[in-house]
Amino acid sequence: MKIRTIYCPYCNVLMEYKGTKRIQLGRTGFILGDLDNLFSGALSASIYECPKCGKLELFRYKKTKRK
Ligand SMILES: [Zn+2]
Repeated sequence: MKIRTIYCPYCNVLMEYKGTKRIQLGRTGFILGDLDNLFSGALSASIYECPKCGKLELFRYKKTKRK
């Protein structure tokens, strides 16, 4: 997958790519709430972090499914 060039909206500096992580959506479901069931409790996301202020940007990694 591609690495995007993203600038922090607050600091206007280039955000660092931190990798693609599997995020567990548990009982709290605090990130995506009602989308929980679509991902069976977990999703993969690419994470970017601003080196200056620490803002995190997540992009959902979509698998292309074909039947
Ligand atoms: Zn920042």
